[in-house]
Amino acid sequence: MSIANPELDFRVILDQICAEMQAAPHRGEAAQYIPELASIDTNQFGMAVALADGRVFVGGDADRRFSIQSVSKVFTLALALGRLGEDLWRRVGREPSGLPFNSIMQLEHEEGIPRNPFINPGALVVTDAILAGHAPREVLGELLRFVRAAAEDDDIHIDEAVARSETEHGDRNMALAHFMAAHGNFRNSPALTCGTYFHQCAIEMTPRQLAMSGRFLVGGPNMPGLIARDQVRRINALMLTCGHYDGSGDFAYRVGLPGKSGVGGGILVIAPGRASIAVWSPGLNQYGNSHLGTLAVERFAQATGWSVFG
Ligand code: GLU
Repeated sequence: MSIANPELDFRVILDQICAEMQAAPHRGEAAQYIPELASIDTNQFGMAVALADGRVFVGGDADRRFSIQSVSKVFTLALALGRLGEDLWRRVGREPSGLPFNSIMQLEHEEGIPRNPFINPGALVVTDAILAGHAPREVLGELLRFVRAAAEDDDIHIDEAVARSETEHGDRNMALAHFMAAHGNFRNSPALTCGTYFHQCAIEMTPRQLAMSGRFLVGGPNMPGLIARDQVRRINALMLTCGHYDGSGDFAYRVGLPGKSGVGGGILVIAPGRASIAVWSPGLNQYGNSHLGTLAVERFAQATGWSVFG
């Protein structure tokens, strides 16, 4: 296991990246299908790096809250693996989808078993699995406790307006849920599971909080040990292969580190043994991943030389 190279000047690296991103002419467009997120100012950009040695570096809008959306799928997967272990994989696969995050086509072809836990139907199955027999508020409470413990910060909450906005416009996710229910791959009512899922996606965090919360996936002696070491490896493997939907191969090629994106414009990136990195910029690329966020972590990986490929 390697630790962060003390020679690297993270302050200079972040300042350079923030300056480039703040001046970038092409910023992408905020997610339009969740009205509460549609009009967010795409000029915002923030980044935070929480190193395995305890140091934290931030740049830009690192203390502004944003909707973590699908980054939440990493935390629910951690809870589900802790609770169900390998049994989870009877209900969801571990392969890249090569299709958009909300595609129904593949789900039909594969008879209600989603390709992986990070596309929407896969994440709905994960939420459905951790709900089993519990009230949504209990599961959301457990999720918030997990995230707050990981971040060592209790000031992390759900934005009810975003949750409501997505619930009111959640027909597509409801359709995916009903489709899986028709195939016997759902244990709760689609409305109950989708409602819980919309609330988990509406968790708000700052880039600093998100970077802190990702440290349980870094591994290493000083990082929070919230899940077993082998689960840390497995979640990182899934983030690398499936964390950016049909843009996962491109992200792995450009950045070379496991990451999970959300349509709120956030990305959590893990440099195993070294750091947890969070970046946020609300403008999205054609895959629904942050346009400048991806560019920023690509620059960061180039500057540090960090990659899981040596
Ligand atoms: N709540 C969003 C949805 O289900 C999450 C998608 C994302 O962040 O990629 O559509």
